[in-house]
Amino acid sequence: MPEEQPAAAPSPGEDFLPYYRPDIGEEEVEEVAATLRSGWLTAGPRVAEFERRFAETVGAAHALAVNSCTAGMHLALVAAGVGPGDEVITTPLTFAATANVIIHAGATPVLADVEPGDLTLDPDQVLARLTPRTRAIMPVHYAGAPCRIDEIVAIARQRGLLVVEDAAHALGTALGDRSIGSFGDVTAFSFYATKNVTTGEGGMVTTSDGELADRMRTLALHGLSHDAWDRYTAHGSWYYQVLAPGYNYVMADVQGALGLRQLERLPAFQSQRRRLAARYHELLADLPELVLPEQRPGTTHSWHLYVVRLRTEEGTLDRDRFIEELRARGIGTSVHFIPLPLHSYYRETFGWRLSDFPRTEEAFQGLVSLPLYTKMTDADVERVAAAVHEVIHAGR
Ligand SMILES: *Cc1c(COP(=O)(O)O)cnc(C)c1O
Repeated sequence: MPEEQPAAAPSPGEDFLPYYRPDIGEEEVEEVAATLRSGWLTAGPRVAEFERRFAETVGAAHALAVNSCTAGMHLALVAAGVGPGDEVITTPLTFAATANVIIHAGATPVLADVEPGDLTLDPDQVLARLTPRTRAIMPVHYAGAPCRIDEIVAIARQRGLLVVEDAAHALGTALGDRSIGSFGDVTAFSFYATKNVTTGEGGMVTTSDGELADRMRTLALHGLSHDAWDRYTAHGSWYYQVLAPGYNYVMADVQGALGLRQLERLPAFQSQRRRLAARYHELLADLPELVLPEQRPGTTHSWHLYVVRLRTEEGTLDRDRFIEELRARGIGTSVHFIPLPLHSYYRETFGWRLSDFPRTEEAFQGLVSLPLYTKMTDADVERVAAAVHEVIHAGR
């Protein structure tokens, strides 16, 4: 995600609180070093173990490690046979990758507006965008809030549609006691540097459909009849067939090593994120100019992002000024996301206009992601909250 890279890089001033900082411990360093010493670099035993533990963690029957969430979403669409002539419904408030994979599959992305509360894809808006050509629905669990995935799956089941979830933000997200990763036909997670668990670059797809899992596994390694793990072990054979024109989407074992140790830390990561988010809530609740992120009852938010919305009607302070003023106080922020209709390619190709998605349009005007990462301290959260107060008071 290019817009996040500058924020993830080492910051210039000592006093600068970046929007994001990675959390890599000695256990990850040790595991990666051990992997390098083992001589197994491409997908191998650590990737296999990472897949097994990941499937357990989210309660999925199958998990396949890939080299990005984007690759995983693309793989899911192609493996399920989505292609030219098909329409895939998704949200305007997402990263470019969600729409791009639909285009790469040869299908046409169709947008449906978000819920006004948690800004996830609204199932009622999906219903309004269905056509005889609709083949799949791709919701996004925005910021780590679960979308109404049970309703989206029900819509899909009634009509024989596929559900591929963009769960880039949703490791740690649950509906009741069921984790995201066990609902849709395929769920794709991201381990990009800023995500709740990272392998630098990387992703995982989960599914309960064994056939779909096999097809994705074949397509992820050039469409070959065996994977490299089989071919180079003692019982492997040199012979293979190309079953389909596949891709090179496999994860390397060094990434699997990193992912394994990160995944072990997930419970600790999530309790820290929950704590920091709760602290933001306490410290920002008295500002009528801000809409704080909500959590629907009965759900678990992964707190991948802490997205606040400036109520633009409440004052003269606009979002861009707000971001500049925070930066001037040494605080990095980000915006998730520039809605898809505002990008020239999509606008010109599909004729999308932001005004056709009024809830996204309204939310975007005030959207700001405050820093939230496990290495933050309570004092860091207090510092951000104090700066937010100062900027908002000055704007009154
Ligand atoms: C990060 C992100 C992606 C892309 O993930 P990669 O692993 O970098 O491919 C897709 N969708 C959303 C919503 C994201 O935030």
